[in-house]
Amino acid sequence: MAEINPFESLQEQIDDAAAYLDVAPDVIDRLKRPERTLSATLSVEMDGGDVEQFPAYRVQFNGDRGPYKGGIRYHPNVSEDEVTALAGWMVYKCAVVDIPYGGAKGGIAFDPREYSASEVERITRAFATELRPIIGEDRDIPAPDVNTGQREMNWIKDTYETLERTTEPGAVTGKAPSSGGSAGRVEATGRSTMLTAREAFDYLGRGIEDATVAVQGYGNAGSVAAELLDDVEATVVAVSDSQGGIYDADGLDTSAVKAHKRETGSVVGYPDAGRELSNEDLLTLDVDLLVPAALENAVDADIARDVQADVIVEAANGPLTPDADDVLTERDVYVFPDILANAGGVTVSYFEWVQNRQRFAWTEQRVNDELERIVTDAFDRLVDAYEAHDVPNVRTAAYVVAIERVADAADDRGVWP
Ligand code: NAD
Repeated sequence: MAEINPFESLQEQIDDAAAYLDVAPDVIDRLKRPERTLSATLSVEMDGGDVEQFPAYRVQFNGDRGPYKGGIRYHPNVSEDEVTALAGWMVYKCAVVDIPYGGAKGGIAFDPREYSASEVERITRAFATELRPIIGEDRDIPAPDVNTGQREMNWIKDTYETLERTTEPGAVTGKAPSSGGSAGRVEATGRSTMLTAREAFDYLGRGIEDATVAVQGYGNAGSVAAELLDDVEATVVAVSDSQGGIYDADGLDTSAVKAHKRETGSVVGYPDAGRELSNEDLLTLDVDLLVPAALENAVDADIARDVQADVIVEAANGPLTPDADDVLTERDVYVFPDILANAGGVTVSYFEWVQNRQRFAWTEQRVNDELERIVTDAFDRLVDAYEAHDVPNVRTAAYVVAIERVADAADDRGVWP
C-alpha cells in the first residue's frame, strides 16, 4: 500500500468541506496548519545504565475555541506529520461535539512493550518535564491515546504538579479515579462508538439489534465498543488485533474474548471462536456494520472496493484513506466519521476537567447520561447538515459543521497583533 501522509489526508478533508462553506480562503488556510509544534529529543537512562534517545512531539493545532486538548501516543511509527494530523482532528472533533476546546496531540516514537515499567515511567516523566511550560488546565490538557492510559496520565500529573508546586488535576485527563479521574472515562470512546452506531441504524430505518458487526482492533476503543454493541443486542461476529482475527457466525462472547486477550495478549487463540481470519478478511466480511478501531489508514481504496458492510462507524482516528472514502461514497456505504464516533473519549475528558475544576465528582450514571445527550445532539446536527448542504457524505457534513464553528470563533477573536 502506498504511504499515506495523515496530515495531507486531514488537509484534503478540510478542503472538501470548505467547498460547501462561505468562509474566507485565508481563514481556511489558517485552519489547515498547526499553530505550534514542540519537537524534543528525550535522553533517558535505561535500567542497565545506558542512555537512550526518544523523539517526542506535542502539536498545538488550534486554540480558537478553548485550551488545546488531545492525547499522547506511544508507538514506533509516531512522526511529526502523524501527530500533527491527530492534533488537527482533535480541533474538529471538539467542535463537532461542541465542547470548549481547541486541539492538540502528542507522541513519543517508541514501543513501550520493549521497555520495563520503570523505564516507561522515566520516559513519560522526561516528556512531562518538556511539556510543563506549555500545558496546564487553561493551556493544553493531555490525555491517553494508543499505548498510554491511567498510569501514564498519573505520572504526567505528578511531574507537572511537583514541578509547579501546586495541585491542578485538570491539567491532565484520563487519570485513575483515585487521582481525580472520571467515572466512565475508560469506556467513553467505545460508548460514543456504540451510540453513533445505534443512531446511525435508527436514521437508516434499521435496528441495531438486527445488525451483524466486525470490529478491527480490540484495544480500549474496540473492545468496549464491541461489548456495548453486544449489550444493545447487535451480533459481534468478528474481532481482530495486530496478531489476527477470529470469527463466529453465531456471535462472539465479547467479554470472554476481552478476558482471553488480557490473559494471553491477543484475541487469536480464543477457544470458542468458529475460525480464525486475517485482518484483511475481517475488513471485507459480509456484515452490516464495520467498526475500524485500530490505527490510521487501515482501509485503502483497494480494500474499500471489497468492503461488504453497509455502514462503517470509525472508532479509530483516520482509519480510511481519502481514496477509500471516495470509493465508499460512490458505493453508497454510509461512513459515520471518527470526529463524531470516537468523540466520547474527549467528551468525558471534558467532564473530568469540569469535575476537577469544581472539585466535585459526578456519578457514572450522570457521566453516561450527559455523554449520550452530547453524542445524540451532535449526531442530529450532523445528519441535518448532511441533508441541508447536499454534501457527498456524512464526514464532509461533520467538517462543514466543525469548520463553521472554529471559523466563527477565529473570526470573533480577529488576528492580533
Ligand atoms: P489500544 O492500544 O488500546 O488498541 C489498539 C488495538 O488495535 C490493539 O488491540 C492492537 O492490537 C490493534 N491493532 C494494531 N494494529 C492492528 C492491525 N493492523 N489490525 C488489527 N488490529 C490492530 O488503542 P485505543 O486507545 O483503543 O485506540 C485505538 C484507536 O482509537 C486509535 O486510532 C486512537 O487514536 C482512537 N481513539 C482512542 C481513544 C481512547 O480514548 N482510547 C479516543 C479517541 C480515539
